[in-house]
Amino acid sequence: MVTSVIGFPRIGENRELKFNTEKYFRNEITQKELFAKAAQLRLKHWKLLQKAGINYIPSNDFSFYDTILDTAFLFNILPQEAENLGLDTLDEYFALARGYQGKQGDIKALPMKKWFNTNYHYLVPQFDKKTRIKLVGNKIFSEFMEAKTAGINTHPTLVGPYTLLKLSDFAEDVKAEDFVTQITVAYAEVTSKFNELGATWLQFDEPSLVKDMSTEDRTLFNKIYEKLLTKKGNLKILLQTYFGDVRDNYSDLVNLDFDGLGLDFIEGRKNLELVKNGFPDEKILFAGVVNGKNIWRNNYQQTLKIIRQIPAKNTVLSTSCSLLHVPFSVANEDFKPEIKKHFAFAKEKLGELGELSSILEGQSSGALVKNQQLFTGNRIKSHLALKEKIANLTEDSFVRTPEFSKREAIQKKEFKLPILPTTTIGSFPQTREVKKMRAQFKRHELEQKEYDTFIAAKINEWLKWQEEIGLNILVHGEFERNDMVEYFGQNLSGYLFSKNGWVQSYGTRGVKPPIIWGDVTRQKPITVKWSKYAQEQTDKIVKGMLTGPVTILNWSFPREDISVRESTLQIALAIQEEVLDLEANGIRIIQIDEAALREKLPLRKSDWYSEYLDWAIPAFRLVHSKVRPETQIHTHMCYSEFTDIIPAIDNMDADVISFEASRSNLEILDELQAKHFQTEVGPGVYDIHSPRVPSVNEIKNAIHKILQKVPEQKIWINPDCGLKTRGEQETKASLKNLTSATREIRKEL
Ligand code: GLN
Ligand code: ZN
Repeated sequence: MVTSVIGFPRIGENRELKFNTEKYFRNEITQKELFAKAAQLRLKHWKLLQKAGINYIPSNDFSFYDTILDTAFLFNILPQEAENLGLDTLDEYFALARGYQGKQGDIKALPMKKWFNTNYHYLVPQFDKKTRIKLVGNKIFSEFMEAKTAGINTHPTLVGPYTLLKLSDFAEDVKAEDFVTQITVAYAEVTSKFNELGATWLQFDEPSLVKDMSTEDRTLFNKIYEKLLTKKGNLKILLQTYFGDVRDNYSDLVNLDFDGLGLDFIEGRKNLELVKNGFPDEKILFAGVVNGKNIWRNNYQQTLKIIRQIPAKNTVLSTSCSLLHVPFSVANEDFKPEIKKHFAFAKEKLGELGELSSILEGQSSGALVKNQQLFTGNRIKSHLALKEKIANLTEDSFVRTPEFSKREAIQKKEFKLPILPTTTIGSFPQTREVKKMRAQFKRHELEQKEYDTFIAAKINEWLKWQEEIGLNILVHGEFERNDMVEYFGQNLSGYLFSKNGWVQSYGTRGVKPPIIWGDVTRQKPITVKWSKYAQEQTDKIVKGMLTGPVTILNWSFPREDISVRESTLQIALAIQEEVLDLEANGIRIIQIDEAALREKLPLRKSDWYSEYLDWAIPAFRLVHSKVRPETQIHTHMCYSEFTDIIPAIDNMDADVISFEASRSNLEILDELQAKHFQTEVGPGVYDIHSPRVPSVNEIKNAIHKILQKVPEQKIWINPDCGLKTRGEQETKASLKNLTSATREIRKEL
């Protein structure tokens, strides 16, 4: 059986692309050298796929930063200011990716957004009246030719016109529909050029089809493709979808003149049902059966069961999405063999496609038997007591008493805070020195005692400074933490950490998600030591600082043998123990961060509650359900993108929530007001993602805006997010202005 791959990780086995690109940013290598490195990597990856026996090998899945930005360059969707810089193409490209400040001018980076339900981020093309879509780029063609010269006939991949329009921003006086003709013509030119170059297949990625589609969306899609497909010539077109099912326009897809349809049978819950109701004989079904997002071995038996139900005459075995979202290879890890055998990263997934294909051809029954063994024995010894504990949770376990309004009154009395209390989100700058000390300690080059002395001194220094500028609620600064998930994972049983399991997050940045291997329990107190220490140094209140269960789960590779709900509840119980331990040790305010709560929100609105929020929000409540009424629970979310789930956020039943708001112009406040949000709020009064120092006046303006929408008794004053990525100077100057601004406003009230 024939096999295909939607896309392959481009950063390289050892993140070569990242390191070389960053060298180029620092002027340490030339453009020519960077191009040569990139070409080497591409060739290496194509050869790897070829060697693994993959029949349909993608090209143009490579990118120096992001494939959507590549597409904007391909089609001339570029802001005039960028062109005015007069830079060469690559530098203009990086200018739009990262912003540019230099001899040629000053422009901001394009906005960046989360790529569907992944942790990858793409750059958002900007359409306005002056936008003229036309084919101007060459990357997609030259990479195809590059592979062809190396003897590999690839299928170029390109984000399709519908998804491109859906993901872009439009100025007020234009809309997607205005560009239908231009975009159709430009994509048609791509097909005709590939006809000339002798390509066989072209893959259009249309993941936006798995989101809710309106009638207008369907019309838009059909309008473009009806025309475009008449221009395809001899080229075969694969319409590729992923991250969900195509229930809203499956009937259109089968009727349009596509040669292949790529469907995700992992996340696309309804796809099997859809194809069972009929799939045209003349089309090829590219069946996404090898998970492009997880790190676990494919369960062949289950996969075969799916494939055998597919009625298509011609099926190609494929990945469920691009392999961009998994690390390169397990071979580079030093897990014990009995652990390692359960994992498949990108490279190993190629092998799985091959094995599945031979099994289906009646060969390799050995592979099937071997695979079955992975799923029959007990991979881990399950923690029966924990299982029972979760089974015995009742509705009350998820409810904190007394209710919010009563607690609010109790806490006002307890803390006697001034109006508009000030605080920060948790971390203070992780200077080079802090990172160095932590790294040395990790490498055992530093004794525990020396390291502790250093951390303690850092905490003291910052506590003193916070007191000086008059912040009301202090933090210890999180100097002992590398990352808000890994730090907790390292102190919980059931977690594994890869050495080299990097996944691209955006541009040259990667993340290394920890792996949930087994049942999660708290082995020992995690944050108590430093929180307690900090609290003992001052008469002011120091907030305890934890990461919430949903965020810990969302930034890890989850298990598949139990539900994510079950895993999250395990984590929630572990964090609950930590919360109660902090409380018992004199910590009176505890912040439980849910920075990534929105991350795994299903792509279809109809699934938001039933598939996710209905268990995710209670999991958070479980963590703090047992604290005393006097203990104040804070939470923090990055991005204010929760306007549409405000009732769910209120339902977390925290006492206070802080969130990013400054960049979105505090728009969320209207919604909070309209929905009678009860939780006290700290909408960030300045943007921490920029080194700029906000003036006292700027902050006062932000506070005034908040005062217009939210009752003053409910307002907290804080920055947008944690300050760990900022420098010390700007942090201190900004926070000083924050406390001054607040004092001035208090006088006005
Ligand atoms: N408490 C964390 C910090 O300040 C929160 C980080 C985050 O929201 N991403 O660093
Ligand atoms: Zn944040």
